[in-house]
Amino acid sequence: MERSFKKEVQALKLGDGETFHGEGILAVTKALLQAGVSYVGGYQGAPVSHLLDVLVDAEDIMGELGVHLETCANEASAAAMLGASINYPLRGAVTWKSIVGTNVAADALSNLSSPGVVGGAMIILGEDYGEGASVIQERSYAYALKSSMWMLDPRPDLPSIVRTVEKGFELSEASHAPVMLELRIRACHATGSFAAKDNRKGVVSGLSKLPGPPRFEYGRLAHPPVIFSQEKLKIEQRLPAARKFIREQKLNEVIPGDLADIGIIVMGGLTNSVLRALERVGLADVFGASRVPLLVLNVVYPLVPEEIREFCATKRAVLVVEEGTPEYIEQAVNVELRRADIQTKVRGKGPLPQAGEYSSDVLLEGLAAFLQATKPAGIDADTIAEKARGLFAHKAKAAAALGPLPPRPPAFCTGCPERPVFAAIKLAQREIGPTHISADIGCHSFATFPPFSLGNSILGYGMSLASAAAVAPNMEKRPIAIMGDGGFWHNGLITGVASNLFNKGDGVLIVMQNGYASATGQQYIPSSKTSRLGATGGVEIEATLRQMGVKWLRKVRTYSVSVMVKTLKEAMRTAEQGLKVIIADGECQLARQRRIRAEDAEKLKRGDRVTRARYGVDDEICTGDHSCIRLSGCPSLTVKPSPDPLRSDPVATVVDSCVGCGLCGEVAHAAVLCPSFYRAEIVRNATAWDRTKHRFRQAAIGWLGGYNARKAAA
Ligand code: SF4
Ligand code: SF4
Repeated sequence: MERSFKKEVQALKLGDGETFHGEGILAVTKALLQAGVSYVGGYQGAPVSHLLDVLVDAEDIMGELGVHLETCANEASAAAMLGASINYPLRGAVTWKSIVGTNVAADALSNLSSPGVVGGAMIILGEDYGEGASVIQERSYAYALKSSMWMLDPRPDLPSIVRTVEKGFELSEASHAPVMLELRIRACHATGSFAAKDNRKGVVSGLSKLPGPPRFEYGRLAHPPVIFSQEKLKIEQRLPAARKFIREQKLNEVIPGDLADIGIIVMGGLTNSVLRALERVGLADVFGASRVPLLVLNVVYPLVPEEIREFCATKRAVLVVEEGTPEYIEQAVNVELRRADIQTKVRGKGPLPQAGEYSSDVLLEGLAAFLQATKPAGIDADTIAEKARGLFAHKAKAAAALGPLPPRPPAFCTGCPERPVFAAIKLAQREIGPTHISADIGCHSFATFPPFSLGNSILGYGMSLASAAAVAPNMEKRPIAIMGDGGFWHNGLITGVASNLFNKGDGVLIVMQNGYASATGQQYIPSSKTSRLGATGGVEIEATLRQMGVKWLRKVRTYSVSVMVKTLKEAMRTAEQGLKVIIADGECQLARQRRIRAEDAEKLKRGDRVTRARYGVDDEICTGDHSCIRLSGCPSLTVKPSPDPLRSDPVATVVDSCVGCGLCGEVAHAAVLCPSFYRAEIVRNATAWDRTKHRFRQAAIGWLGGYNARKAAA
């Protein structure tokens, strides 16, 4: 795994009277244990990958409480786990990245929310929203609305997060509906402290098992005709029960303020950003006290009409701070106020933008516009707006002074085994010409950025082959689908491979077999060599594909660029019809380096011989055309001034971060570039034989140098 929480998880053992200090994601795990969960599961994805990593690292602690942990094959299997709470008083939580994971889990979620639950069921959603996020800019709110699942969006401070998790289970049980808990990136990584409580064993768990199944009850199935009565239950019983619980337990908070004729209704998760914007113009302090009253919605769905009415009744205007479109909360507030004939003006989208992340700057601008439009008593709104403009002006001046900065798109790690495959595709395309490339989700999608710029569509995780299904029959050249091994097991095996074989499709599929779900932090997948439970059951991609009936299958070491080029050309040109699969085999370099570094440190401690490969460029041979950089894209390859005073072009050079993967040399060879790359081996704890070889080589080099000098002098 990318990050180990072995040390931090000890905090999960804290009990009554002790104080927990740590990160939001760890606090969520502690809250789950305090709430007495019986099972947890999920599928990795930012920003909740670490939640799953924490759960894995805390498996021993959970085992003592009888909590079952499942690292699921995808989000659908995680959502289906919650089926345990339909019939039994089992509290359970699952996690994934939304919106993409929620899309994958949608079928199970609908079938869960229709019959409802007996035990508390919680879905912890990582909301990865914003310009740098790797998902479509949609929100999970629509799912909560359409399926009648309640959505929690806690204020990003640890006591609020912990309380919301604990109360979330009670809410789920009180209203018999699953709840979603939305966690934004900032909430996951917020640090703080809270008063810990003892962990609780579940009523039913691995330590206290059920004697048998419940009495057969057709109403517990999401199946006709009971789905119609279930829909009525959602509206007539579960929704009122949820609202009653939210109101009675005060899950939403009011932060009072003296500017009583205006107010802000804010999604809980955005509270800190709003307070920061207020603080920048002197309307709040750094401890969260505000002059503008705030209604903090730690539960964003359902809204409680009485709370909305009470907050708004005495105000001339309120600002609804709600990220995403459509403006569900703003519309609901408007409807509620019109129904109650309360004339408070509701603003939201307008002062605030319709789309995009509500960063502190965006909120500051929206807030200034709101204050200028409403002119609350007790402050000079124009002066505050002027102050806000002044803050932006500083930024503009600083940006102008710096000048335009170069864009920094994400890229493959140094030595990544996937980079050579794209170098090979580029080289193969010199001969076979360009063809349609179906890209996928995973590290390999970095190839859509320069210098490769390869990929014509991305349709979802593991969907590349399926997304080429209608391209292949309509294109002269075979399309190439790229899929990671994570995507292969998540979805691609059935959606892509089975469907292609079933439909006798053609085309080329490259499966990047790097051994982990690398993009999310090197979690294990079914074909990993090991797993959290020890050796895997020998699930191999190659064997699976052969069993399924793939006839044309090649496995190529990714760094062998010339072999990969040859194999690609063969796959594109062969007269053989049907799916052609190339398994591009090479362990994730990041995971490999972590593994090797630890192994090498052990060896060095024992005094054993340790070697490390490094590549270099011979300055005298480098022609300075830099094709090697363009073709490999390795960040360890750069340029430096030529030491030859007669040559003005800079030469290529390898910097210290080189991990010795050999791609640059391979590319230079496959592309018939200059022979300027050399491989060196750094030997630590050298043996007597190493030293003898070294002395001999030095002598030979010295003699040859002298020979050349003698020859030149003769
Ligand atoms: S994490 Fe692994 S697979 Fe992903 S870019 Fe880095 S080296 Fe490549
Ligand atoms: S410089 Fe060459 S050998 Fe070193 S990491 Fe980059 S491609 Fe690999």
